[in-house]
Amino acid sequence: MSNPSFVLQKVNEVSFEDRPVPEIKDPHYVKIAVKKTGICGSDVHYYTHGAIGDFVVKAPMVLGHESAGVIVEVGSEVKNLKVGDRVAMEPGVPSRYSDEYKSGRYNLCPCMAFAATPPYDGTLAKYYLLPEDYCVKLPDHVSLDEGALVEPLAVGVHSSKLADVRPGSKVAVFGAGPVGLLITAVASAFGASSVTVIDIVQNRLDLAKELGATHTVLASIKDTSDETAKKVVAATGAQPDIVLDASGAESSINAAISAIKPGGTYVQVGMGKPNVNFPIANVIGKELTIKGSFRYGYGDYPLAVELISSGKVNVKKLISHTVKFEEAKEAFELVMSGKAVKVIIDGPQ
Ligand SMILES: [Zn+2]
Repeated sequence: MSNPSFVLQKVNEVSFEDRPVPEIKDPHYVKIAVKKTGICGSDVHYYTHGAIGDFVVKAPMVLGHESAGVIVEVGSEVKNLKVGDRVAMEPGVPSRYSDEYKSGRYNLCPCMAFAATPPYDGTLAKYYLLPEDYCVKLPDHVSLDEGALVEPLAVGVHSSKLADVRPGSKVAVFGAGPVGLLITAVASAFGASSVTVIDIVQNRLDLAKELGATHTVLASIKDTSDETAKKVVAATGAQPDIVLDASGAESSINAAISAIKPGGTYVQVGMGKPNVNFPIANVIGKELTIKGSFRYGYGDYPLAVELISSGKVNVKKLISHTVKFEEAKEAFELVMSGKAVKVIIDGPQ
């Protein structure tokens, strides 16, 4: 096969296809041989549901968007990359003409072409094209496995910036899946004096401790939101002034708003049900700042690479399994089983 690709044909049906090798048409683009791809909750959701919100899979689509690879060809205008460079691949390219792009919030561009978001093909293929400025070169001592984790780490960087985490912040993070764990690591690297992580699974909390959590709270689905909030405040010794929710669960969202200090900031990162019961009275009474965080924007990818390169964030701790490209289907099943933290799929040979 010249460009083996892992394709979602329709809900719950995937197969390997030989796609044409993509050709560089824009001189600012590079061609990357994809070497490592992490599986994300969104990939699994398209696999099992065929849609996320307004994005609906209507035609076969290559999955995958958390990738790193090696440059195999460069366009004639490419200035900063060369064949053989190892790069983390930022998988969403906005329109350079949109208001959102021009105003510095390109992640909000309505014309964004994002890997494995319909109708755009993803990165689980042998080759992928990107503009050179959406590739971040990896230092020699950073592995391609770590490069694949730059994508979810950039989500942690973006949300921590929006939350204005800084030295002395008291942060709480709800949900210790890959994104919650990486927010924990970033908040710690940004200088938060405490990072309290809340989850219902103990071994995820153990991992959160390894990534910089100062306190953990094992929540129970039997607890009310106020009871969970009390546990958070008791564990931390104070109300958190910043809360990031990486769970998307209604009970967590309510517990978070209940726990947060008056005047604090709440950032929604996780996505669960599209509509939830929300304690709006507390938002007024505590005069909270509420923000949504979507993917990542300018500077987030390079900073994520620096956090790895400097040793401030050890993303390798998240990798629970690595599988061959031919086992991509099994890799998805592993993620769905809930037994894996982060599964990495090797690129096609
Ligand atoms: Zn992702």
